[in-house]
Amino acid sequence: MENLEKIFEETYNTKPTLKYISPARINLIGEHIDYNGGMVLPAAISRYITALVSKRDDDLLCFKSTAFEKVEKRHLSDLKFNPKYDWANYGFGIFYMLIKEGYRIEKGLNILITSNIPLGSGLSSSASFLNLIGFIANDVYEFGFDMKTIASRSVEVENKYCGLKCGIMDEAAIALGEKDKCLLLNCDNFTYKLVNLNLGKYKFVVLQTNKPRKLTESKYNERVDECQKSLKLLKEVYKDIHNLCDLRSDKLDEIKEILNDDILFKRVRHCITENERVYAFKDALEKGNITKIATLLDLSHKSLKEDYEVTGLHLDTIVEAAKASKAIASRMTGAGFGGCAIALVDEDKFDKFKEKTAKLYFEKTNIIPDIYMVDIVSGPKKIEE
Ligand code: ADP
Ligand code: MG
Repeated sequence: MENLEKIFEETYNTKPTLKYISPARINLIGEHIDYNGGMVLPAAISRYITALVSKRDDDLLCFKSTAFEKVEKRHLSDLKFNPKYDWANYGFGIFYMLIKEGYRIEKGLNILITSNIPLGSGLSSSASFLNLIGFIANDVYEFGFDMKTIASRSVEVENKYCGLKCGIMDEAAIALGEKDKCLLLNCDNFTYKLVNLNLGKYKFVVLQTNKPRKLTESKYNERVDECQKSLKLLKEVYKDIHNLCDLRSDKLDEIKEILNDDILFKRVRHCITENERVYAFKDALEKGNITKIATLLDLSHKSLKEDYEVTGLHLDTIVEAAKASKAIASRMTGAGFGGCAIALVDEDKFDKFKEKTAKLYFEKTNIIPDIYMVDIVSGPKKIEE
């Protein structure tokens, strides 16, 4: 921390006066159904972006990240999107949107961020960053927003300002997170409920494949298209459905005939069964049925691998390695094709688990993974020292 304060002073020639943190997120279950009207069940985890801040007397807004060299500075009156500001666009975008909404901000800030959330690995460093800046602006200028408003603005900035397609899940999971609870979230209408995570001696572990997510975007769009095509065909028969997740698995035989296409059928089967697994997972959590929880996580991975086909060698290998190393369950999390998986592991057996999983994964891929236990935590916070 002392070091970070030193970087702040070297960068801005003044001392920081405020400190904030914002967590990362994992999705426990409900994968690739956020855009099919399904339910998701994410949770905020104990990996953070930290920000040191000081107020300025002029109208400059300044960002520096320990992950990048340059300090990015702009006038509050001139915050239009410009690709040359790269990563700092997330920060400028929040202020741009606030000013566009009519909020008066006359004096700027010096902001320095540092992070132990891997960038671009599916733990939502982007959503964490956006929410953090929204939270800081809300605190400094005393706008009085609730966390839901902060999350919605973050999504708007990611979609409209940065031009990156994303749903509400990531920003909501981070903004609305609470300690030892997960968020049962309807991504369609942004209604949600917090559910207690009662896992006894088991902890969630993040398995970072350290494989760049190259294919993610094109394959993601391909799946979205396949789902839309299927929905169109199914709507001709089931007139009152709005989304694939309005359907139930007792209709699968009929659906197979209607679609008359193996690939489309597999995609739809994943969506329908995954949505049902989310509800079953919530029930199992409420009953403290850890065996059922583990089974559902494993089945989710199997479905993402075989029916939705978004896992790939690295995710499958790390999930198999985790299972061979005594995880009671493991599945990919996020968009797939690299990024991260999660596992449920007995806390006392973590060290051995980590060693064996890393070894098995390395043998097959030649990549050293990062493996760490995480706590389930609350959303962005001001740190008073
Ligand atoms: P994910 O959200 O899964 O981590 P994204 O590609 O959506 O992946 O977001 C990663 C981007 O977010 C980075 O390329 C960078 O622009 C921004 N970002 C995240 N963390 C930081 C950080 N610590 N410093 C600067 N920019 C960051
Ligand atoms: Mg992101």
